[in-house]
Amino acid sequence: MNLYEYMGKEIFRKYGIPVPEGYVVEKSADVREYKKPVVVKSQILLGGRGKSGGIKFAKSQADLNAAAKELLGAKIRGLTVTKVLVEDMVNIKKEYYVSFALNRSERSPMLIASASGGVEIESVPHSEIFTRKIDPLLGYSDFIGREASKFMKFDKNQSAQFRDILGKLYKVFSEEDCELVEINPLMETAEGQFIAADAKVVMDTDSFFRHKDINITDPEKTPLELEAQSKGYAFVELDGNIGVIANGAGLTMATLDALTLHKGKPRNFLDLGGTDNVEIVAQAFDLVLKANPKAILVNIFGGVTKGDTVANGIVEAKKRFDIKKPIVVRLSGVHEVEGRKILKDAGIESFPTMMEAIKMVVKVAGEAQ
Ligand code: GDP
Ligand code: MN
Repeated sequence: MNLYEYMGKEIFRKYGIPVPEGYVVEKSADVREYKKPVVVKSQILLGGRGKSGGIKFAKSQADLNAAAKELLGAKIRGLTVTKVLVEDMVNIKKEYYVSFALNRSERSPMLIASASGGVEIESVPHSEIFTRKIDPLLGYSDFIGREASKFMKFDKNQSAQFRDILGKLYKVFSEEDCELVEINPLMETAEGQFIAADAKVVMDTDSFFRHKDINITDPEKTPLELEAQSKGYAFVELDGNIGVIANGAGLTMATLDALTLHKGKPRNFLDLGGTDNVEIVAQAFDLVLKANPKAILVNIFGGVTKGDTVANGIVEAKKRFDIKKPIVVRLSGVHEVEGRKILKDAGIESFPTMMEAIKMVVKVAGEAQ
């Protein structure tokens, strides 16, 4: 999971990596009194903000107000800006690049550093990039920082600051279970201080159980996706109008493909997983209904998830949530005969094959208001 710059910088601050003083606002009216030159940075999960107008410099209260007003709600690189970070402006002498990244083929973290910072590292010639594999068992040691400093042609003072930051950055990388920690640019100020002007932190989502202290809410997820996640469902919102409940990620994906093939537009991805619990089926309806689809398609190939359990769950959901929207069911596999009978008795149409159900749901969604 990719963190916003301001979240990454909070972590950096906690580990003692120098970052500019700053604060986050969501409304332009919340900007504070102007005291000294500031940078107003749109918080989006893409880089290249500098080149796309996502970063503004303010040298007066009027500039600051205007920058916040202009950026909040604007689209930068296709993403809507909901927060801006207002930070003390740094007087740049030089920009560097430094990161620790998990290299999967090497099965190790890698230190990457360059004296050509402030631009995408991909565009820097290989000869100007220092890379060093870090043994995951031994971790980072100062001699590695010395090698890097030599490559960067740092003097004693620069090297001391750089190595201090490297040590702390590696600590962030390992203790916070990161896939990437990147500072680009790592700025050297006119006064000779090193400071992290940007922060990119990618955390391994599988480690979240170890970070209960940190309030990690994936900024890329919608409120409904977060609710689904907290209830244990694999759920993704899409922009169509047909709600989807299926079992198994593969069948769910195939369902979305088949709907699209028949000119239907899925509203969501929801994988029930392997369950034999009526309540889990009913709760899935609750989530899908909140996405307000025109019709709901249930596509179940019974196995662990038995046909009669699903049928009882559908009947329960229809009653509990008083569902008036069309529900179309494909049910086959384990206990399909029992399941389809339960549905029929409740007045819900079901089909033994996927394509019949797909065609029907596309038709009824098209007719629904
Ligand atoms: P990105 O373009 O999304 O990676 O955003 P960055 O935070 O890296 O900022 C892009 C560029 O804006 C930097 O490389 C700098 O050239 C410039 N910049 C950012 N913060 C400051 C600052 O405090 N002072 C100055 N002078 N330039 C800055
Ligand atoms: Mn950057």
